[in-house]
Amino acid sequence: MEHIDGGVLTPGDEGYDGARAVWNAMVDRKPRLIVQCASRDDVVAAIRHARENDLEIGVRSGGHSIIGHAVPDDGLMIDLTPLNRVRVDPQRRRAWVQGGALLGELDRASQPHGLATTAGNVSHTGVGGLTLGGGMGWLARQYGLTCDNVISFEVVTADGRTVRADAEENPELYWGLRGGGGNFGVVTEFEFRLHPVAQQTLVADLWFTLDDAAGVLRGWRDLAPTVSRAATLTAWVGEVDGEPRVSAGFVWIGPPEGAGELLAELRSLGTPVAERTSEPSYLELQRMDDDIEGHAYRRYWKGHFLRDLSDAAIEAFILRGSQDGHGKALPYASLQAYGGAIADIPDEATAFSHRDALVEFVAAAKWTDSAEDESRIAAARLFGTSLAPYSSGAYVNALTDEGRTGVQRAYPPEKLARLIPLKNTWDPDNVFHLNHNIPPSGPA
Ligand code: FAD
Repeated sequence: MEHIDGGVLTPGDEGYDGARAVWNAMVDRKPRLIVQCASRDDVVAAIRHARENDLEIGVRSGGHSIIGHAVPDDGLMIDLTPLNRVRVDPQRRRAWVQGGALLGELDRASQPHGLATTAGNVSHTGVGGLTLGGGMGWLARQYGLTCDNVISFEVVTADGRTVRADAEENPELYWGLRGGGGNFGVVTEFEFRLHPVAQQTLVADLWFTLDDAAGVLRGWRDLAPTVSRAATLTAWVGEVDGEPRVSAGFVWIGPPEGAGELLAELRSLGTPVAERTSEPSYLELQRMDDDIEGHAYRRYWKGHFLRDLSDAAIEAFILRGSQDGHGKALPYASLQAYGGAIADIPDEATAFSHRDALVEFVAAAKWTDSAEDESRIAAARLFGTSLAPYSSGAYVNALTDEGRTGVQRAYPPEKLARLIPLKNTWDPDNVFHLNHNIPPSGPA
């Protein structure tokens, strides 16, 4: 392989096992080569080498693809983790973020200037995969999804060229990279729009028994159309101290006083068994779930977008795919509200679809013993299936092993009709296929 500024790891090398480990501990694949890219030229060389030697390519940023798409078995992993620099221009409110940076690195560089852009809820997630699939976070109802805040992309293409994609240059590619995932090339740099963001936040969660939960969640749902864009409504179902519980709450970005009315409305919905409110700084908020969503667990997810939340959907959420909401090792699940600035943007403006979602549902199974793999996955699938009748689509970044069906749920036919010609243009041989794949229409 030609000169590499970063490094190359092969099986048996020190650091190899660490470099191939990703967030989901179920992913145990062994690339033939891991190219730790420290420059754009390294990415070009890695793609060339893989193509010349017929090696399957996986692209790794934060390593949080739920199904572990970053790691190719016996292939070449383009490991972008050394490319993690973030540069901020506070005057112009811009950030230039290399393709392997984590969300925490973007937040930490922006917040000292009182700035931020929409980023996800767990700081060890990669900017790369999250942005290319859409990017939902606590600022999205005010400023749009993460992909809506990308001004330009620098991309290394399947044939080793470096191109820029923005509103003027390669505008169709710019459209596709905002939601179309890693299908079109390797993004070596993102240019983001930043916003003045208060450093204060408020997080509220009220916990209810299963008996009270349906009534509370109906009231919580009815708050959605009028709630301030500073707030993102949240709900959760799972176990607390071994008891099934449902929480209804919200995350508020801004001075906590502003959230008083909403908190009072939430409290009026029922009698909680517990209440937790906290006032973390914005940076603390962005790290709040880092441990609970930590590495080294076995994981499986099922997700849906829901355009509305009927009473029947609420019942299904509370039951978790079981008869009565009680059961051994049921997955936990969350609802996170969309709307606001996400829905202001016309659906055809980006490859990301389903901007009309009221909420995103994710059922998440987390365990450690491989003997439980089958039962945990089956329970999560059952939970997902129970919500399917109410679904309006799926978020590509929450897909796991749905294959073609999942891609069709993430992108409606009119989006696929535009994404496939784009794939034909930029990656006709489907070099980048280890992803939620949009296959080219020609012979691959
Ligand atoms: P990786 O596994 O490194 O990458 C995933 C795929 O993205 C790769 O296979 C590749 O196809 C592509 N890719 C990544 N970087 C590049 C690049 N630079 N150029 C080209 N292709 C690239 N999503 C949200 O929207 N909001 C959330 O709050 C949120 N929270 C999450 C929390 C956790 C704990 C986890 C595990 C996931 C969360 N997600 C969230 C979903 C997340 O957006 C996806 O899992 C995403 O794919 C993670 O990106 P990554 O770079 O970390 O993953």
